[in-house]
Amino acid sequence: MGWWSYRPYVPVAQRRAKAARAAQKLAKGGRKVAPVATNGRTIAATFWGKAWCDNLESYSDFENRLPRGRTYVRNGSVVDLQIEPGKIRALVSGSHLYRIEIEIGPLPAVKWKAIQSECRGQIGSLIELLQARMSQRVMEIVTRRDSGLFPSPKEIKLGCSCPDWAEMCKHVAAVLYGVGNRLDHQPELLFQLRQVNHLELITAAADSAALVKKSASKKKTIAREDLAQVFGIELDAPAPSKGPLRKARIAQPAARPQRKQAKTKAKTGPAKRAARQGKAASKKR
Ligand SMILES: [Zn+2]
Repeated sequence: MGWWSYRPYVPVAQRRAKAARAAQKLAKGGRKVAPVATNGRTIAATFWGKAWCDNLESYSDFENRLPRGRTYVRNGSVVDLQIEPGKIRALVSGSHLYRIEIEIGPLPAVKWKAIQSECRGQIGSLIELLQARMSQRVMEIVTRRDSGLFPSPKEIKLGCSCPDWAEMCKHVAAVLYGVGNRLDHQPELLFQLRQVNHLELITAAADSAALVKKSASKKKTIAREDLAQVFGIELDAPAPSKGPLRKARIAQPAARPQRKQAKTKAKTGPAKRAARQGKAASKKR
């Protein structure tokens, strides 16, 4: 079953068939092809996918050229789409098979730090982040046009192998929409593309949540551990029982036997001495 086969109503049947052949050819060559398959007319349906598309459409540099890509991506012309750190590589089937390379600048460290700090304590888990089950505030932070996660036109460098390449051809536009579609299924690719570790957003959140909730109990635990370490080195047994045991050995039970021993010693001492003296005496005799 191909990715194109469930959409028989697509108008550009010829192009679709061509795209399919191209994909098969690439797959035979051992390359793992990842075509873009939209669900009917819907290019992106989730928060991350839609936010990607909304961001691109919000720039006047792009808004006139992007619509040409919608039909292309919907009819399955994006035969292959690969998202890597800082780079999008794609194959789009038009009158020929074109290679598209789009470079995306890394998210500046200052912006990433600011996003982390603003989201601190507000994203409970990785699932929450990737399924966008976040507060309205967090969603606003990550989608903010100048300080969010999405790239601006200045950070996007477009390239296509087609002859009518100008600023943005329909192939490139299709690929940009294709990224929105891909983020529906693999939202973590956005972070990879911007070269930031999405787990840092969770870690930051978890750290601060732990600090707020468990600071008291954490301190206690640490204190106990420190105690155990100190006593472990000095006393060579579990910390809490250390003090009493030591005292018991020295002060209490040891005291009585010592006295008894002393008494016995006192008894045996002279007796032995007497015996030795006796022996000596008998030798003399
Ligand atoms: Zn092109």
